[in-house]
Amino acid sequence: MTTVRFLNGLSTIGGNIMEIATETSRVIMDFGMTENSEETDAETLIAQHSLPALSELFQNNQKHVYQHEAIFISHLHLDHTAALAYLRSNIPVYISHESYRLYQNLAGSGLAMTLGINLHAFEYERPIQIGDLSVTGFASDHDAFGAAALLVSDGHHTFGHSGDVRLHGPHVERVHHWINAFRSAHLDLFMLEGTSFSFEPNQNLEFSDPVSEDDVQHTFGQLIQNDERLLVINPYPRNLERLLRFNQTANAYNRPVVWELPYARLLSSFYPEALIHVQETDRLNKQDFATLIPVSMSTIQHEPDRFCLQNSYANLQVLSRWPRFLYLHSNGEPLGDYDPRYRKLQEFLAQHHAEYQYLGSSGHATQNALIAIAKNVNAQTTGIWHSFHPEAAVAAMSELDTHLFLPNYDEIYSF
Ligand SMILES: [Zn+2]
Repeated sequence: MTTVRFLNGLSTIGGNIMEIATETSRVIMDFGMTENSEETDAETLIAQHSLPALSELFQNNQKHVYQHEAIFISHLHLDHTAALAYLRSNIPVYISHESYRLYQNLAGSGLAMTLGINLHAFEYERPIQIGDLSVTGFASDHDAFGAAALLVSDGHHTFGHSGDVRLHGPHVERVHHWINAFRSAHLDLFMLEGTSFSFEPNQNLEFSDPVSEDDVQHTFGQLIQNDERLLVINPYPRNLERLLRFNQTANAYNRPVVWELPYARLLSSFYPEALIHVQETDRLNKQDFATLIPVSMSTIQHEPDRFCLQNSYANLQVLSRWPRFLYLHSNGEPLGDYDPRYRKLQEFLAQHHAEYQYLGSSGHATQNALIAIAKNVNAQTTGIWHSFHPEAAVAAMSELDTHLFLPNYDEIYSF
């Protein structure tokens, strides 16, 4: 018998964690948290439902309950990984080989903290055996480099985990590929993210009429040609492909992006052939001088129409040098008004006569795209989570030929 338990994230955006177990083996999928807590005590965090109720993984020297077990992570966003920082077990943690490379480079360039965990990489579509369960990761499309959908089999039953996914991104063929693989596997259970069902369709246009990554670059190219103010971008480093595309678009118009050092190093280690400009600082080392093109702030100050500047929130004050500029928010931190830093950002921009423009693309499928995914995967049972209103998704999918399901925390589902 195989059992399924849901440990978190049933009605929040992110933090969704599930466990699939046999008598001897278990697989836990995703390990995120939805908020930054000041609290450090794992038991308190479990009681607050911030950490999953898996105390044995958060204390030193605990006996393993299962002979074989592992955690699989669909992608490197904090709402899918933050709980890893609390792990005190040597349980293996698997991420895609692309995510693994991203993590190593983020940590190496100071853009992520190093986690002392037993980390492994999986290749796409090569099953990993965890006792009598096998797990296969499929390349997907989300606004994080290396995102995957996960398929678990016990030899008789199959379980699918969509991860976070979109159909308006540059790698839609990957999503269609895993949808077909999931469909052929005749899933017993498919867990699908329902982010876009958190909002009314016209309340948030991102989820009804989404902007694509191509659109982002097109708009950026237009601004580069037509706007003489300094163009400041704030992208999210885990969306590595967008960083590269900003760099390419700006180079193509001969108005390069000048990156902060950690971003420049990240880009250079992934794309050594790219022409990368970096903000001049005394932290540049020999290797940086060999691979990057330094530009001083005073050069950019004198000729703002010749450059674009990448700026992360921690270095916001740097922007006081310019009497006016256009601030292009491209899904970097702070992401939105639920983060108190977002208001501070807006205040700073208002004080400095800067114009704010959103220039991003969502990593999440529209409501219609989610319905199409559920329809095409055609699982026996489809569960919705990773949404403020999973019940809205269930209502919208009621015509589909799948049993729709809203899981409970305190139930163990047997297959
Ligand atoms: Zn998420």
